[in-house]
Amino acid sequence: MSSTPNAYALSMPDDDPRIAAVAADADAHFEDTVATLVDYLGYPSISCQPDNFDDVRRLAERVRDDVTALGLHNARLLELPDALPVVAAEWLDAGPDAPTVLIYGHLDIQPVERENWHTDPHEGVRSGERLFARGAADDMGGWLSHMAAIAAWFRGTDKLPCNVRLIVEGEEEIGSPNLERFMDAFPVAFDADVMVLTDCENPSTDVPGLTVSLRGLIEVELRCEALGADVHSGLWGGMVPDPALALCQHIAKLVDDDGRLVPGRRPITDEMRSSTSGVPLDDETIRGGAHLVEGVDPLPARGVPPGLWLWRQPSVTVLSTTLPVPGREKNAIRKTASALLSVRLAPDQSAEEMFAALQSAVGGYKPGGVKTTLHMTKAFGSGWLYQPKGPAFDAADRAYVKSWGHKLVRVGVGGSIPFVALFGRRFGDLPLILNGVLDPKSTAHGPNESMHLGVFRKAIAANVYLLDELGRLGKAALQAG
Ligand SMILES: [Zn+2]
Repeated sequence: MSSTPNAYALSMPDDDPRIAAVAADADAHFEDTVATLVDYLGYPSISCQPDNFDDVRRLAERVRDDVTALGLHNARLLELPDALPVVAAEWLDAGPDAPTVLIYGHLDIQPVERENWHTDPHEGVRSGERLFARGAADDMGGWLSHMAAIAAWFRGTDKLPCNVRLIVEGEEEIGSPNLERFMDAFPVAFDADVMVLTDCENPSTDVPGLTVSLRGLIEVELRCEALGADVHSGLWGGMVPDPALALCQHIAKLVDDDGRLVPGRRPITDEMRSSTSGVPLDDETIRGGAHLVEGVDPLPARGVPPGLWLWRQPSVTVLSTTLPVPGREKNAIRKTASALLSVRLAPDQSAEEMFAALQSAVGGYKPGGVKTTLHMTKAFGSGWLYQPKGPAFDAADRAYVKSWGHKLVRVGVGGSIPFVALFGRRFGDLPLILNGVLDPKSTAHGPNESMHLGVFRKAIAANVYLLDELGRLGKAALQAG
């Protein structure tokens, strides 16, 4: 067994000693896996910076070579003009009756603001139970946890329990702009019976998460107009409408006393309540994660689980306004005022539906009688609401019970993840298992990103068991489910 300092007992209770041996072997190689991860983290594969495109490519080539050495077949870079490469590989020797599992991850990373990091962001640094570096949890630890499981299967049995396809893209952090083109150009590389998309969060380091929803996102411009020119507030204040004040009134009217968006709000259903049961999203987690200052509390739950507010209800954020900024003060009523608002959509809500709800709220309110207009300036995409049902999810739960001692808990994401929405649209009839190695303290995209090493160990074990469980299930049972 492992000699790691991480005190996370993996119970590995599989009744089949052969499987338990593979999981134990994966765990015995844990330090080697961490060393490989530290190597990968040394590549500043920042996909939004042209200066780093070569780093993305170098890492893609390295991963291609490494998965070949692991035993996967046909490892290659998929290439398209004006796109960073996708690493693809497969192993299809489990035969036609075995299901094919597609594993997705991404090797590109977010940029870094070095001054806010305590350590070199491109050097894996171990501190306590965590490994710090940009990309540690998002998402290099994610797909590497699959590679480690695959390596253990090959070492122990010279084969895998099911067919596997691997897809590691290089543009996730810029919104996967070319992933659909890759799906169109290389359909066989994506041909599978079940997909494991490993770039999502666990609600805690003890409770594994299965992501089942995303919110959509639009931007709207709210504009108030009353005057042909700015006028003296001493001469006209109190007699004519003030567009700046009307804009503030309008924005305030869109939300309840807690500041939560009212138009488009979803009625709370039993399905919603049960969808977030077992999620350990408590005040302390919210307080720490959102950096609430002393004396400020999370918004009152109002009898609704906090996760529901975040994952299943729309919300609004003021992005910018044309209100006068400091240094530009004058005692005048400004002729117009406008605000750009970002609106998160409920997972099952279309941009059109939300815009119509906002329009009727704005149109029905005339503070001071100003002229008000509302425009949708951007629609970034709708949300995604998934019902995980069937034998693949039962198989996943069994794998997680063996490795984590806990079934996957259904969680949502308050933001939008383009690749998830894309997989949901293209492959929504397949079982999509969205897991990952992130936890609430990972600060993906922020400074001092880290991965919890206990989560990484359990993720590797979970993947060992998941391949076995899906293989045992067989392709026919998967498709029937
Ligand atoms: Zn990611």
